[in-house]
Amino acid sequence: MSLYDSVQSQIKQAYQYISGNYSKNLLEKILRPEQVIEVSIPVHMDDGSTKVFTGYRSQHNNVKWPYKGGVRFHPQVSKDEVMSLSAWMTLKTSVVDLPLWWGKWGIIVDPKTLSKNELEKLSRWYMSKMAKFVGPHTDIPAPDVGTDPQIMSWMLDEYNKTVWYATPWAITGKPVELGGSLGRWTATSMGWWIVLLEYLKDIDQSLEGKKIAIQWAGNAWLVFAKIAYTHGAKIVAMSDSKGGVYDENGLDINEIEQLKKNRKSVIEYCQWCEKLTNDELLALDVDILVPAALEWVVHKDNAESIKAKLILELANGPIDPDADAVLEKKDIVVIPDVLANAGGVTVSYFEQVQNNTNYYRSEQEIHEKLENIMKPATKEVLHTANKHNISLRIAAYVVSLDRIMKAMKFLH
Ligand code: GLU
Repeated sequence: MSLYDSVQSQIKQAYQYISGNYSKNLLEKILRPEQVIEVSIPVHMDDGSTKVFTGYRSQHNNVKWPYKGGVRFHPQVSKDEVMSLSAWMTLKTSVVDLPLWWGKWGIIVDPKTLSKNELEKLSRWYMSKMAKFVGPHTDIPAPDVGTDPQIMSWMLDEYNKTVWYATPWAITGKPVELGGSLGRWTATSMGWWIVLLEYLKDIDQSLEGKKIAIQWAGNAWLVFAKIAYTHGAKIVAMSDSKGGVYDENGLDINEIEQLKKNRKSVIEYCQWCEKLTNDELLALDVDILVPAALEWVVHKDNAESIKAKLILELANGPIDPDADAVLEKKDIVVIPDVLANAGGVTVSYFEQVQNNTNYYRSEQEIHEKLENIMKPATKEVLHTANKHNISLRIAAYVVSLDRIMKAMKFLH
């Protein structure tokens, strides 16, 4: 089964709970993206050679709002992945009820292997090829795995040159100096945090004494670890691409942050700490497991080994559908990606609104507004799960689909 097949089958599963209100024709329309664009991007490399990269853009459906979604630079990018990520974007923007719909960008590249000069050329070329599909009223990119505010700046500059006027709200996740929002860089992690606390409150528990294991690297991974650590959570294990470390007394996240700043792996954290593979980390006996990297790291062959009581999906799609079924049987609760990591796109939306009105908010205001969106969304998903006795993932899809189909019904 491909990644996109699995997204389709989960959408179909969720549709069953609202099929009395919406015709199957609407479902058929939602199941496929409207267009998937593929481009070749030739880059003159520093050594004089030319390398041609492949880039994608999946645009699903914009009957109501412009497309919105991140740009991923990663060697594992594929058409199937970009289509799936674009579908998750709609479910995500819809579960938190933002006026934005689905899209995703991606280039097959390992950005770590490129010089700054090569990366700039790649980002600019990609935008110049895609510019006709971009714009504040059509499609708005943002950072994702392997991209950052610097790359957004180059892409926005290229876009502005193409259209001949300044459109800061055509791209989000920009540096604050170029119109980015305060709190955007930490927004995804803040969103996870708000959702996690809201869930624990619902089951009458606190974070006190809970052991957390966080798998895999990335900026958001570290920001989340810092927030949890400063609020007293005990993070007993963390990993990156080289492996992980475990200390039952809790890791010092400030030290881990220092290692990362010096471009070192977490495995250099301490001499006496137990070293782990990423699979061993997933199987730890902890209260909360946080997969934060790429898709399907939890699959049918390792799902049985999971002992955590709660999984908070920081990555998009880290659990495959077979593993989902195994976890459900084991009564392991999964807080799904489309809800848990909606904080990033929510603050992207605030960024656009600020650019549009040219009035900028404090970090405190952004944080409060994020809470005002994430908390009710979490409550609604929890309520829907209880009402139908379904997993939080399918409940989140039901909430989203209901909103999407309600709008589509006026047009079909
Ligand atoms: N890439 C992020 C995500 O997957 C953010 C997208 C955005 O801000 O548009 O949610």
